[in-house]
Amino acid sequence: MNIDQLAKVTHAEVSAHQKSETEILTLCYDSRQATHLPNELFVALKGATQDGHDYIPELLRNGSKFFLVEKDIPVASGGTFIKVKSCLLALQQIASYKRNQFEGRVIGITGSNGKTIVKEWLTSVLTTSHAVLASPKSFNSQLGVPLSVWPISNKYDLAIFEAGISKPNEMEPLQEILSPDIGIFTNIGPAHEENFINLEQKVKEKLKLFKRAKTLIYDKDDQLVSTLIDKHFNGDKIGWSRKSNGSIFAQKASNGLTVKWGDKTHYFNTSFEDEASIQNLTHVIVCSLFLGIEDNSIQERIDRIKPVNMRLELKRGIEGNFVIDDTYNNDLAGLNKALNFMEQQRSHEQKTLILSDFIQSKVTLEDFAKLNDLLISKGVDQLIGVGPQLSEASSCFTIKSRFFESTEALINSDILDQLNNQLVLIKGSRKFALERVSLLLTEKVHKTRLEVNLDAVRHNLHFYKSLLKSSTKVMAVIKAMAYGSGSTEIAKLLEYNKIDYLAVAYADEGVALRKDGIDTPIMVMNPSEDDVYAMARNNLEPEVHGVSQLKHYYDAFKSLGRTLPVHLVINTGMNRLGFNEGQIKQLKEVLSLMPDLEVKSIFSHLAASDEAEHEGFSLTQIESFKQIATDITSILANQPLLHILNSGGITRFAEHQLDMVRLGIGLHGVEVNERLQSQLMRPAQLKTIISQTREVKAGESIGYGRKGKAVQDMTIAVMAIGYADGYLRVFGNGNAYVSINQQKVKTIGNVCMDMTMIDITGLSVKEGDEVTVFGNSPTVSELARWANTIPYEILTNVSGRVQRVFYAE
Ligand SMILES: *Cc1c(COP(=O)(O)O)cnc(C)c1O
Repeated sequence: MNIDQLAKVTHAEVSAHQKSETEILTLCYDSRQATHLPNELFVALKGATQDGHDYIPELLRNGSKFFLVEKDIPVASGGTFIKVKSCLLALQQIASYKRNQFEGRVIGITGSNGKTIVKEWLTSVLTTSHAVLASPKSFNSQLGVPLSVWPISNKYDLAIFEAGISKPNEMEPLQEILSPDIGIFTNIGPAHEENFINLEQKVKEKLKLFKRAKTLIYDKDDQLVSTLIDKHFNGDKIGWSRKSNGSIFAQKASNGLTVKWGDKTHYFNTSFEDEASIQNLTHVIVCSLFLGIEDNSIQERIDRIKPVNMRLELKRGIEGNFVIDDTYNNDLAGLNKALNFMEQQRSHEQKTLILSDFIQSKVTLEDFAKLNDLLISKGVDQLIGVGPQLSEASSCFTIKSRFFESTEALINSDILDQLNNQLVLIKGSRKFALERVSLLLTEKVHKTRLEVNLDAVRHNLHFYKSLLKSSTKVMAVIKAMAYGSGSTEIAKLLEYNKIDYLAVAYADEGVALRKDGIDTPIMVMNPSEDDVYAMARNNLEPEVHGVSQLKHYYDAFKSLGRTLPVHLVINTGMNRLGFNEGQIKQLKEVLSLMPDLEVKSIFSHLAASDEAEHEGFSLTQIESFKQIATDITSILANQPLLHILNSGGITRFAEHQLDMVRLGIGLHGVEVNERLQSQLMRPAQLKTIISQTREVKAGESIGYGRKGKAVQDMTIAVMAIGYADGYLRVFGNGNAYVSINQQKVKTIGNVCMDMTMIDITGLSVKEGDEVTVFGNSPTVSELARWANTIPYEILTNVSGRVQRVFYAE
């Protein structure tokens, strides 16, 4: 669509130097993801903490030209602006218009769980015989749906979209946009329960998606869903059932699934055992059969289904490489996102992109030239292209590049051996199976890993920011490997999100961050006198707690011809580091003799910010701090930042936020205030796998010291995690549970150094299954309670040998 068409569809005015017939090809709604290419439209959305309009001046400077806005922007600024009442509504109108031009069929998926998986699997099956457009990842919201529909055109003959709601009246606009011809209702569960009167209301709201659908596929064994569909849906009902009296009968068989439809029986092989996967798979099979796909095509695609992994993962590679793995899907928008993730993790100087051909059929030479520019602007040093399309276009690339006709040719070449100390991004469409390259380049480690969701850390940062004035600065405390998660990666993320300050405990942590390219100011909380030159060379700022330490630092910096930046810590009741009230007079005298010194900040630390019973004490600390800080400031030439609140303090005493706050555990999703916990996300998930399962007869003992006892015949499993990984010994003997396939499983017997046994009697658990040791269930806070400690200790205990994997959705 061109600018004029977009304006017409959204009933908008266009303000521009001249009317434009420029075709808009891509949408961008996050200024950091902007490519500034000439066919991009920036959509200025307003969020809870951010307003897209604020980024327009910067975007204009960087060459962006077209904007969808809600406010007047001076035309003199050089851009072209489509002004509407609501950008979100405008996107929905555009999507709805494009959908109406589409002549193929639209499949709409909703339900509580499994939407994304069903969409992904179904897409995989249907691409055997159709040109399919599918929503990316789990784009199913009021914003996600219009963005998913944007690329729709008549070069596709099928489109598959998911739609999700979290409260009543959200489905109508999604129905307006999608108006699916075929519907799939996955299932109903407790998600977002609090926003609906009851389950019935929730099902009814979701069913609104299918107002005009001709066909609806659903699990007939769910009584409520089935009854409500009978009542409210008028089209063809394709309800499948596990009971033989249904017209479509789907039953789990050994290593497979039998589907009887009318007088035909189909059999499919699958290794899935758990009920949720079988339900998802049945929806996919029934829909594929309905659309006339052959059994063998379906089977071929089922064989390729692996647990859906749609996220960008950063892993440690061989030869000092780091690998970002995105071997799932390849289109331009996804590539841009992956390049941004790469840029954000720019610690390693050389960057290599291994890229397969795009899935879109039509890519012009001009597109490749643009791609070349994009790679240069994102700092990619080398391109390794895989596939005939890219190979043919090799002359479009001015950046260092090599091309291979196929993934096999790449693997058989010597180029992979030449990669060392690189940040390697592997990005390809499924067809090229680039995961084989990823396997070759990544380190083999035991399967226990701490997965860190970088989006969740960012979410938590924004949550705390939303409690603060926009002028208040935030210092992120990332001591102890960022509470066990990984200092550099968390620091990169925070820097990317414009954090004001970082704090570490020791100088060497700060030096390591500088080596990895972190430029944000860093305060070192407990520097020793020996660290002074390393601090000076690396632009690290000491926290100072005594007069002799201050003098030592001052003299050393002066000897190097440098101004000393300091943070003065005041003891107001914590009785850890700091100047006492009685020492302030002397401190002021010393400071007045130090012209080459800059007091960056003055701060104190609350002893019990997280405990209501000590609120009175905390307030006296705050008052005393304010007095002392004002006293010191009175003799300083500059105005230092004052700060006292840590995470617990921010939620309890926001009115005392002063100039800055120090955010630590909150970034990791632990909030002592129960009421706010639900607004945080939990970034860290400690995961392992099942190494073996075994039968144990009644009366036998299990593990060291024969502490585990089989009171009856039991089935147990061994997980590949022990106290050397940070899984405390107190968690043994049934004192903790882990989650496997959504089941809670208790430990049995003592925790060993590298392994722990669990009781899986009567549960569905097999060798190789993934185990969640902590994450959403159980949570870090639960483990802390079981071990009679605090969440900080559980997080920082995860040992160095546990591989950290960072990802973004
Ligand atoms: C660790 C630390 C923080 C962060 O505390 P959280 O409770 O994790 O937010 C803040 N200030 C100082 C001085 C600290 O030592």
